[in-house]
This record gives sequence, C-alpha cells and structure tokens, in this order.
Amino acid sequence: WKNAPPTLRDVLIVGRAYKDRTFLVYEDDRATYEAFTRAVLTFAHELQARGIRKGDRIALIMRNLPEWPVCLFAGALCGAIVTPLNAWWTGPELEYGLKNSGSKIAIVDAERYERIVEHIDACPDLQRVYICRENDDVADPRVTKIERILGAVNEWGKLPDRPFPDVVLEPEDDATIFYTSGTTGKPKGALATHRNITSNIMTAGATKARAFLRRGQMPPDPSTLPQGVTLLAVPLFHVTGFCASLVPSVFAGGKMVMMRKWETEKAMQVIERERVTLTGGVPTIAWQLIEHPNRGKYDLSSLENVGYGGAPSAPELVRRIVEVFPKSQPANGWGMTETSASFSGHSSEDYINRPASCGPIPAVGAMKIMSADADRELPIGEVGELWVKGPMVVKGYWNHPEATAKTFVDGWLRTGDIARLDEEGFCYIVDRAKDMLIRGGENIYCIEVENVLYDHPAIMDAALVGIAHKTLGEEPGAVVQLKPGAKASEDEIKTWVAQRLAAFKVPVKVVFLSDTLPRNPAGKILKTELKKLFE
Ligand code: ATP
Ligand code: MG
Repeated sequence: WKNAPPTLRDVLIVGRAYKDRTFLVYEDDRATYEAFTRAVLTFAHELQARGIRKGDRIALIMRNLPEWPVCLFAGALCGAIVTPLNAWWTGPELEYGLKNSGSKIAIVDAERYERIVEHIDACPDLQRVYICRENDDVADPRVTKIERILGAVNEWGKLPDRPFPDVVLEPEDDATIFYTSGTTGKPKGALATHRNITSNIMTAGATKARAFLRRGQMPPDPSTLPQGVTLLAVPLFHVTGFCASLVPSVFAGGKMVMMRKWETEKAMQVIERERVTLTGGVPTIAWQLIEHPNRGKYDLSSLENVGYGGAPSAPELVRRIVEVFPKSQPANGWGMTETSASFSGHSSEDYINRPASCGPIPAVGAMKIMSADADRELPIGEVGELWVKGPMVVKGYWNHPEATAKTFVDGWLRTGDIARLDEEGFCYIVDRAKDMLIRGGENIYCIEVENVLYDHPAIMDAALVGIAHKTLGEEPGAVVQLKPGAKASEDEIKTWVAQRLAAFKVPVKVVFLSDTLPRNPAGKILKTELKKLFE
C-alpha cells in the first residue's frame, strides 16, 4: 500500500496527467481532467484568500454535482479538513454538523442553502457560505456564488492555470470527516487522514489483480486498458461515493458519470449512452437494474463489473447477475465509514463460488473474530464480533472521545458486525450486533432470513425486523416488496421460509409494500421505520 499515492494532492497530480480525457459527465455538463484540475486550483486559491489554513474545517453540503469533487480536492490542497454533511439532513441536523465540526466555510447547493439560511447566525465559527447552482443573487454579504469564481462547468478548461497551493501535505495529515450512516444511532464523524482515503486505490487494484491471478493470468498493466466508465449511483457524502468510487477513478483516469438522483430507467439510458463499464453502490441498485421491466429495451452490454457493498446482499443476487449480465463480473465489498470505504472485497470466481462472503482478509489488513465480551479471539469458523486493522482504519471520531475509546482498541477497530472467517481467510458477515433479534432466547440473524426471502421468485426487496412480544421479547416480522407483476400470499411466503429454516425463524407476519423499502441515502433499510408497520 505504500505505492498508493500518499495524499489527495498526489491523486490530483496523477489525474491531471490524463489531460483531455473526460473526467466527469453530469447531464449536459462535461469536464476533462485538465478542466477539473483548473477548477480545483482556482477554488483552492479562493479558499486560501479567505484565510483557510491547515486543519480548518470546511463543510460541504450538496447533492452529487460536478462542483462537489472540485470543492473537496480544493479544500484538501489547502490542508483543510473537508466535512461532507448528509444532504438529506434537515436544518437543525445541518446546524449540528456545522457546529460539531466547527466549520469556517460552508459550501452548499441552492436547496441546502434554503435549509441552513436560518441557522447561519447560530454557527459562531461560520464565516462564509458558498452557494452553487443558484440562479438569483443572494443579498447577504457573507454569501458568494460559486459560478462567479468557477464559471460554467463546460468552460472550466478556460480557467487560468494556477500553481498548486504552497501547503505541505503529509499522508498522516487529517483530510476529511465523513459521518456514519446513522443506522444504529446518531451519526458519528469519522476523522480520516489522506493515507486512509488513498488506500482505496490499493484495495480496488488488489481485488482486480487477485481475480486475474486466481485464473492463472497476469493482471494487465492498468495504463494499457481502455478508459473505465463508472456510474456513480450513491451520494458522494458517504465514503462509498467519494473514497471508493471517485478517488480510484481519478487515479486510473476513468470517466465518472453522475446522476442527480437514482432512477433505474434513467440509469439504463445513461449506461447505454455513456457505455458504462462499472456500477457501484448498494446491492439494491443491482436488483433494480436486474428486475426492471424495461431492461430489455437498453443495450447494457458495456457493463464489465456489477459491484456493490456497504449493506448485506443475498447470495441469490450473484446468481442473477451471472444470468442477466453474463459478460460482467459481480463484486462485493465490505467496509465502514470508519475504514474509509473498502476494507475487504472480491469479484469473479472467488465471489461466484462464495456468494455469502464479502471477501478475503486483505493483503494489507488484519481481521479477527472476538468473543462478545471482547476477552478472547475465537477460533476459525466461530461466530463473533469482527475486529479489523489496516491503513484504511481512521484515527477516531471527531469530537467524541468516549465513542473513540470504546470503538478503537489497541490499534483495532471494533466493527459491531457479527461475522466468521473460514480456513481460507474469507469473511462472512452474519449480521450486525444490533440487527439481530432474540426470540425467547433464540438468536435470529436477520440476514439469514432475508436471504431466504430474496430467494423467493416473487420477492424483489425484503427485510426482517423484530416485533415486540410480551413473553418472547421479540418475534420476527417480514416486510416485502414483490417484483412487478408477481404474486405471493402471506401464507406462501411463510411456508417458503418454513421449508428452509428452523420454525422459530419463520416470520409471524408479512407486510407487503407496493414500493421499495424505505432507505437512508446510503441505501440502508430504515428498520426503525419498518418496525412501525407492525405497531
Ligand atoms: P452507524 O454506524 O451510524 O449506525 P452504519 O454502520 O450503517 O451507521 P456505515 O459506516 O455507512 O454506517 O456502514 C457500515 C456498515 O455497513 C458495516 O458495519 C456493516 O454492518 C454494513 N456493511 C458494509 N458492507 C457490507 C457487506 N458487504 N455486507 C454486509 N454488510 C455490510
Ligand atoms: Mg456503523
């Protein structure tokens, strides 16, 4: 991993060498690597002129827009700690994020500006707001329009060529604070160094190289390959979007296609038009492509990799990808905000042969399974809490010493995931410590039941949650969405599970939803919302 570029500045220097290659596409906007670099340098000088120095925090609150990576790299070049906040947060939540990070500058799109405008005065450190994609001028003298500095995206190539800011960056310098998804509680800010982020380049490369080596072939020299085209289907404000998709794409000179928001049919149009080779994101996205009734109308033959991670995926998904996209390789990766995105991952035969695994112990990291009370390491094959270690593991949580002390122990990160390792070192996520229900003393791992539900030919989307029960504590309840046009009754679904799993794991109730299950922007099912359906 020492060969991965040490800082985001180095990543940008490599990216710039791709000159006239397209770096990004967003609706009618396009930018080459040279144009992107010029925009980054222009904005970095603007930030320096506003007094931004090493260690200052800058909040970035936008949807996926071309300006997003410009602002992140510009902040990083100044040595600032860029703090992307969740664009779905409400005004008070954003105020919390701005205050918690002590951001001096906030960079927002027009919609987010509306949300924070009443909160600006409540944030004592906030000195300036940059607003992006706003048609009208804002009267507040503390607000600057980004277009005034950068101009239109298609014109970035005409910006003057400015030198890189005179700031010394070290791999161990703080680079970002990404907030966790808040699946199990209030989101925590994970403080990542440049090295933490750039190690995604190494993990992505190692996974690809491994697939070739397992077939007895030498991995090709990346510079000889045609340009990869990634469809960015997840928000940049989570690590999967920025750290695992965008940063490796810049390093490899790839083309990044951004969508304003995920719509399956629109995504298929974009895949056809831009000849997308790789889709990333959460497993749901792959399911939506596979099951879409109009899939046959589009030419999706350019897809070489259908990858995902960040949430549990049913083994059934791998079989469907092989069936529906025979020319592309399925891939799965496990990671957390606290591991700056990818930690372990695998693709092709490794994954096809072990569809329930999220990959082997990475070459540069360590994984171990610990007992519930954290007093001993468990032998191979036993189920316990997964602890990990490696160059991608962040330093700790911003402004949160107690949570840091609890989670980061002797150089290891306690993941809160329940897992096992096999003899070959492949990891199997069994569940989250908090996503398990106990029915009268019997543990039910939600993922196990969900995988059986996904196997049912009529089911498109599924989740298992605990329903409170007086004597048993909890009972399993299922929420499902059926595939378009498919039919299945509550009894049929219960019987399906009963034929495959122990009786105590069979849902006592099944709720049908006509739409996909509610998810947060990271694509994770909001189980707290689902539980309300059973009240
Ligand atoms: P919070 O920590 O705020 O409750 P979160 O853990 O969902 O939210 P993230 O850091 O976005 O926030 O997600 C990391 C978690 O996602 C992991 O701990 C794991 O439970 C789950 N996960 C990630 N990748 C996979 C995968 N390939 N298979 C199964 N689960 C995964
Ligand atoms: Mg977590």
